[in-house]
Amino acid sequence: MAPRAEIIAVGSELLTPLRSDTNALVLTARLREIGIEVVARTTVADDAALLTGAFRNAIARTDLVIATGGLGPTEDDLTREALAAAVGRPLERDPALMAELEQRFARFQRPMAEVNRKQADLIQGAVPLKNPRGSAPGQRLEAGGTTVVLLPGPPAEMRPMFEEHIAPLLAAKVAGRALRTRILRIASMSESDVEQAVAPIYTTYTNPRTTILGAPGQVELHLTADGDTAEQADERIESLAAGIRAALPGRVYSEDGRELHEVVAALLVERGLTLALAESCTGGALAARLTEVPGSSRFLGRAWVAYANAAKTDMLGIDPALLERVGAVSEEVAAAMAAAARARAQADIGVAITGIAGPGGGTEEKPVGLVFIAVDGAAGARVRRCFFPGERTRVRTQATQAALEMVRRGILGLAAL
Ligand code: ATP
Repeated sequence: MAPRAEIIAVGSELLTPLRSDTNALVLTARLREIGIEVVARTTVADDAALLTGAFRNAIARTDLVIATGGLGPTEDDLTREALAAAVGRPLERDPALMAELEQRFARFQRPMAEVNRKQADLIQGAVPLKNPRGSAPGQRLEAGGTTVVLLPGPPAEMRPMFEEHIAPLLAAKVAGRALRTRILRIASMSESDVEQAVAPIYTTYTNPRTTILGAPGQVELHLTADGDTAEQADERIESLAAGIRAALPGRVYSEDGRELHEVVAALLVERGLTLALAESCTGGALAARLTEVPGSSRFLGRAWVAYANAAKTDMLGIDPALLERVGAVSEEVAAAMAAAARARAQADIGVAITGIAGPGGGTEEKPVGLVFIAVDGAAGARVRRCFFPGERTRVRTQATQAALEMVRRGILGLAAL
């Protein structure tokens, strides 16, 4: 088992909308690289009783606790006192720390206020951690089999102190262990459908562990394994990933961090195919995603945003009689838009999206969330009738995602959804 860590962010300001706890993100990333998993994060106000409780909980449930902030000289800097209370040990004024503090103030030719003296207080048995960039030193101590580290709050002080004093120590402790994560991405499938298909497989594994995360138009499976080496951890992940791929044939579009538009862009480039887009309800969102990819002119030459009926006729030559007869949100118009975009751009594949993103404009027959997506050309000719739940932004996001998945499946010759 990889060591488990908890991060405690101390500071009432971190519980307002004005400041966010960026230290925890930095520490989480670094700990993962080292091979330590962060299993809990706590943000605590400048309150002695709450802080003491937070330390007690964290020490009881994890192997490593890193707290940042609250090491300053003022009344509301309570981290040292709270940890001392949690581990039941006294604070002792450390003469060497005191001398360093005095030298620091002398160097800046500033008198040292009485309150600063408490920054030289060390919890009995703790090792002091030097902070050349600020006045608050850190501390490290062992308590009940857990390593507890106190670091100052300012990120510019916290980060170098972690690197200098803590990272090498932790790396030595976990030497011979490696922690790896792989993210499997699946588009156009609900979280519950993915769960139903893969739960019988992943629940038989304790290493890797699996987390399922749903987002509009996408589900992610996070597989995290530890092993004696990175290779062993990767092999364990691959064993589970193979089972998941088999349970969801053709559905996992990425295992290397890439999003769907990047995967589709790479496929188009690889196959030397070009794309043309005609978007109505997504207003260019699909074009925006595809052109995020550097070098997108290799596969995307033209994209139309044809929002009003008149635009569909003027720009793409859609027959006004057809629009009148079946309506802009229809299988026929979607197909005509994709074919027109392809022909006008002389592209290999035409893609069109037309739907009702809401909140207004829905009818009983054509409710909000109804979207037709058409693909025409080298990826096959088909139209998909989709019904996306949620508000406007969600509908639009899901529509672009579904269109990309149609293109991907078409190019790869996978069955239509
Ligand atoms: P010092 O008082 O010597 O600056 P300290 O340990 O007392 O150190 P705090 O007073 O708690 O630190 O915070 C100092 C600054 O660092 C504040 O501006 C605070 O917003 C910022 N800070 C504290 N904790 C975090 C955090 N978790 N993420 C990002 N910034 C933080």
